[in-house]
This record gives sequence, structure tokens and C-alpha cells, in this order.
Amino acid sequence: MTSVLKIYNTLSRETSVFEPIHKGYVGMYVCGPTVYSNAHLGNARTYISFDVIFRYLLHLGYKVRYVRNITDAGHLEGDRDEGEDKFAKKAKLEQVEPMEIVQKYTLDFHEVLRQFNTLPPSIEPTATGHIIEQIEMTKKIIANGYAYEVNGTIYFDVEKFSKEQNYTALSNRNLDDLLTNTRELDGQDEKKGRLDFALWIKAKPEHLMKWESPWGEGFPGWHIECSAMSSKYLGHEFDIHGGGMDLVPTHHTNEIAQNLACHHTQPARYWVHTNMLTVNGQKMSKSLGNSFLPAELFSGEHKLLDKGYSPMTVRFFMLQAHYRSTLDFRNEALQAAEKGLARLLSGVKIIEQLKTDVSSSFSVSEIKANVYNALNEDFNTPIALAHLFDAVRLINSVNDGKEHLSALDKAELSIFMQEITFNVLGLKHENDAGTEKVDGLMKMIIDMRADAKSKKDFTTSDFIRDQLKEIGIEIKDGKEGVSYTIL
Ligand SMILES: [Zn+2]
Repeated sequence: MTSVLKIYNTLSRETSVFEPIHKGYVGMYVCGPTVYSNAHLGNARTYISFDVIFRYLLHLGYKVRYVRNITDAGHLEGDRDEGEDKFAKKAKLEQVEPMEIVQKYTLDFHEVLRQFNTLPPSIEPTATGHIIEQIEMTKKIIANGYAYEVNGTIYFDVEKFSKEQNYTALSNRNLDDLLTNTRELDGQDEKKGRLDFALWIKAKPEHLMKWESPWGEGFPGWHIECSAMSSKYLGHEFDIHGGGMDLVPTHHTNEIAQNLACHHTQPARYWVHTNMLTVNGQKMSKSLGNSFLPAELFSGEHKLLDKGYSPMTVRFFMLQAHYRSTLDFRNEALQAAEKGLARLLSGVKIIEQLKTDVSSSFSVSEIKANVYNALNEDFNTPIALAHLFDAVRLINSVNDGKEHLSALDKAELSIFMQEITFNVLGLKHENDAGTEKVDGLMKMIIDMRADAKSKKDFTTSDFIRDQLKEIGIEIKDGKEGVSYTIL
């Protein structure tokens, strides 16, 4: 492998060579879900993207500490601390305890990510488990002069901060424009500046999720949680901070401000953001009625879906777009992904059956270099997949006797294809193809068909082929023998 990993950094707006702070180690923090409703597909895309990044860093030999939080307190409806607490609202609606809401949707989130075959993070801290750390950080920001108290609520002083630092460095927005576009303060507001946000919020007497603090009973703001937990587990400065692109203008901007005000350092070297999903070219949103849950996508029970698509088809489909591009959900594209995934998995399987030659008619190291070059270019999975398909074409040609492969190259290609497909891209077989029993059964059926054919009993041989196709198993006649794919 000659190329080195490069990552696009939202903060510098450049793609640069990845250099971790400590050689061989990577600290990565990704903003997790607010667990007050079912995980939606946009979330899934973000975490699948970071799963591939996590897996690839591990593949490159880094020791990675991947921290992904669970927001289970303190997230108000408006990103700037307005409106009701999301958990309290849902708890009232479902007539349960807020922590029952948290439990229910944390389980749902984990189940969805398990179906998508994502690896669990190294640490999954919760906001409610880190109240002390958030209070301590708030105290320090007050002591450093960047926050003030009004009636038991602590606000971050954006005006003061922005006189010394570039508050909008991450979003690259003009501060004056941001001010103009933010609601003007009125008599109801306690805060001094309209961009000020809460680090700690005074709880009303009826509020259920509240804790003691030096400023009375309350609960933490949403932004301070990630600053407190990333600092605790990854240090004041770490390598990668990620999340959905929608977090850039407020949540991540405020995180950077909090860290600078508290620790005098910018928390992460590389800020990585995933783009959003669209459906038939339109932004996916609940109000447009075009958003669907992962479960609806798997079952096909949604008016916009022709049929259900398996979790691996959806994962494969998502990998066909770069994480920084928008991704459009269309039935035709999902159907194509279903076929593409089957072709890739069958290619990986066919290598095992290939007959070898004294030499190879193509270069395995070139295939490997192409795939690595793509992944090293800001984790470009669509280009990596295109090169894997080049490899699948060559594998099929060897199977048909049009290309040949040495034993050494065959072993190298086999290990490589498996490593990238299963361990880096995180794809897997979803049915029983490849298991010993099914392989045994299929061998028996394929032999019976071959026997019928040799006796010129084409009625039986065609019947076997057609019946298998009916139940979703395709058999393919190659020069090296017959192979099967479960569709
Ligand atoms: Zn966060």
C-alpha cells in the first residue's frame, strides 16, 4: 500500500493527511442519538458511515477508542434551549417515566444498529451518568469568565467569547448574518445575548429529570454533555469528532466554544460530518410523509416502497454513496443494490472454488492498491466498491476459463476480498448460503441435476433449476463447475 489516509476536515475545509496525536492510537468521538423516539434512517446512515471509518482505522492497525454518547437528558426541542424537554414531552404523551422512554428507545437504537451489523463503540457514555462532569465543566467556564447565572440557569456568553475567538469557525458562517437570523430577545428572555445558550437549566418544580447543583435543582444543556464526556474519555485534544452535518451550525459550534472557554484548546483535530438522506430527490422529513423507519424499509410496509430490503442491502446501498454526499432513496436504486450485493458476495465465495494455474493473467496487487487508494481518499467507499466489482469480474472470468490465477495470488485475493467486504465494509451473508449444511444440500441437488443432464433428461435438470430460482436460489454453470447464490 503506497497511499496514506487522508480525511476531509470541516473545520479547515480541506482534505489532509491523517496524523494522529499519539502514533498508533486514534481517539474518535461521535455524537450519539437523543433517545426519545425510534432511530430513523438518517441516524442509521451517520452511524454506518462512522462504523466504516472505525473499521477501516482498525484495519490499518490503529488502536481506536471510539466514544459515542447516548443523550438521555437535557435535550430541549429547540437547539438553542427553547421549548419543552424532549423526554418529558414524550413521557407525558406515552404516560410513562422519562427513563422508560430512554430505555425503550436506547434498545431500539441498539437493535437497529445490530441489524446493520455495526460494531459497538468502545465507550457509550450517557448524559445522566455524567452530571458531575458537566457541573464541573460549567463551574470552570464560569470561573474563566465565559458564562453567567440568571435565576439558577447558566448561560454561555457567546458575545464575550466571539470578541476573542472565531465562534463560527466550524460553520464558516458570518456572525452578523447569524445574529440577524436568530430570534430577537424579548422581555421573556433571561439571557443577555441572543446567541447565548444554556450550560445548565433550572428545573421547574414538576420537572422529573433534575439534579442538585451549586445553582439549585436543574439539568444540563445538550451541548455541554458532549464536551464533558469527550474530555473525560479522550482528553482535551483528540483526533476525530464526528456527527451528522446538521450538528455543525449549533451543537458542534457550541462544543468548540465550551472547550476553548474551559480548556483553552479546540477539542478535535479532524471534524468529520455525514450528509443527509433524500427520498426521490426530496429531503426526508416527517412532515412531508416521506420518512421511513428502518423497520419499515426492511418489511417494505410503506407507501413509497415497492418491497422490503434487507439490512445488508440497505447498508450496501448506503456505501455506494460517499458519506459527504447526499444519498437518495429510490426503489430502483435499492433493487440494483440488492443485485450488486449478491454479485459481490458470490464473487467472494467463488474464489474458493477457482482452479489455479502456474501464473496469473492479472495483477492482484493492482486490485488491492486501487481499493486502498479509494479508502485512503477520505473513506471513498463507492470507488472502493467499483474496484471490488472489477475484481469480481476477473474472478468470474477465471471461473469461466478466460483468465487464470496462481495459487499464491488466489490465496492473497481471497483473504483481501474477505477482509474488505466483511471486516472493513461490514457486509455479511444474511441467509444460510455458505453454511456447511446448506452447502451439503446444494451439492446434492447440483449433483442430481448434473446426473439428469448427463442422461439427457433435460426436463428434470431444467425443473431443478427453475424450482430453485422460484425459491430464490440461482445456480450458475461455470467452467470450473456449478456454483449457487441465494438471492
Ligand atoms: Zn454531541
